[in-house]
Amino acid sequence: NVKEEAQSLLEKDQKNVWHHISKYDENTHPMIAKEAKGSWITDHNGNKYLDGMSGLWCVNVGYGREELAQVAYEQLKDMSYISMSQSHLPGIKLAEKLNEMLDDDYMIFYSNSGSDANEVAFKIARQYHQQNGESSRYKFISRYRAYHGGSLGALAATGQSLRKYKYEPLTSGFLHVAPPDNYRRPKGQSVEEYNLQKAEEIEEKIIWEQKETIAAVIMEPLITGGGVLIPEPVYVEKVQEICNRYGVLLIIDEVICGFGRTGRTFGHMHYDIKPDIITMAKGLTSAYLPLSVTAVRKDIYETFNSSDDENSHFRHVNTFGGNPAACALALKNIEIIERDNLTNRAAVLGDRLRNELKELEAHPYVGDIRNQGFVMGIEMVEDKETKEPAHDGRVKKIISDCKANGLIIGRNGDTVAGYNNILTLCPPLSSTDADLDFILSVIKKVFKENET
Ligand code: PMP
Repeated sequence: NVKEEAQSLLEKDQKNVWHHISKYDENTHPMIAKEAKGSWITDHNGNKYLDGMSGLWCVNVGYGREELAQVAYEQLKDMSYISMSQSHLPGIKLAEKLNEMLDDDYMIFYSNSGSDANEVAFKIARQYHQQNGESSRYKFISRYRAYHGGSLGALAATGQSLRKYKYEPLTSGFLHVAPPDNYRRPKGQSVEEYNLQKAEEIEEKIIWEQKETIAAVIMEPLITGGGVLIPEPVYVEKVQEICNRYGVLLIIDEVICGFGRTGRTFGHMHYDIKPDIITMAKGLTSAYLPLSVTAVRKDIYETFNSSDDENSHFRHVNTFGGNPAACALALKNIEIIERDNLTNRAAVLGDRLRNELKELEAHPYVGDIRNQGFVMGIEMVEDKETKEPAHDGRVKKIISDCKANGLIIGRNGDTVAGYNNILTLCPPLSSTDADLDFILSVIKKVFKENET
């Protein structure tokens, strides 16, 4: 019987599987998923959920695409593995395709995860400066509230204290500044003025830390996991200008924003900037297989290749990076995004979500609703005037009521800093109109039932 089988699986899971983040308890035990198709996941009890988070912000083309399974199968059958010390057709084709999408010349370094891709970016940045005779440049500037990965370097770049403080000392040389949080900007200050000031804080940091010690600034086009903080163009463009002025590299983390999510091919394409290094993961394969990329500007790469000094090579190997099946699958995933016009679809779906949820602005506990393409944050507050972040129980209740109604949504921020009050939505870009109707109806219903 279905119920008994599901119960037994839960017990085995509880006994053997160590999950991300959460402690195992009655209320937070994980859904045991059985199958997934389109935007929907079915669990072992037969319950269906619309995945309003695309897994961990990654399944852009939706679940269960047979053509993706097929392309991986064919590649595994023909040639399951060649390391990237050598090369292979899917890896070459994918690199060429990514450059076409970036409309530029980057060298493509393959790894397995977003964390890996960022670690590679940090190592390349440090070595690049050394080879340029600037070995004092080893520090990175990142932002509070950003997430860049779980390994010790990527975690050092991360700006969320809760994720970090038990694992110190982390990799040294990572500094943080506050990102623009337009909703919480000082009263009376224009958004432009405020964003400009936030960018100038990066310049200030560079100067106070000794400009010759800064290797790179790393940032997402918008902070996704830290609470959907969307900067004004003036911020991002000013940061680029500052980086140029001080010889600091600009690393853009496109792990979530890339591959259509924000309504552009890459998130940084909303702005007039040219990143030195771009990292990609999640949406690259829609998480069907693990693969990540560190795209490095050609002239940076040249410094690793031009010297006859053996030690000018980039010393970094990872066994699985650039697996041919993952590369072939990524190519097919990109083909689907382009064929089905999913980047534009992200913009259309995001606009509709935003317009139809406008009525939530009148809700007593909703302080701000913001989106770029099909990624949305709903910031909950106790008091609209003081903007005191909504209490834990209030945020949790919305999430669990959504789940009880068949909709998975997320929550992001940083409990230690007191900003874990932002609900997040990031459904597959392939969501149908009916899927969106469902998302809207559940959210409206749940907020209506939680007005007091
Ligand atoms: N960068 C960003 C912006 C991310 O959101 C994440 C993962 N949530 C990472 C990097 C790390 O990716 P991974 O989990 O694949 O290591």
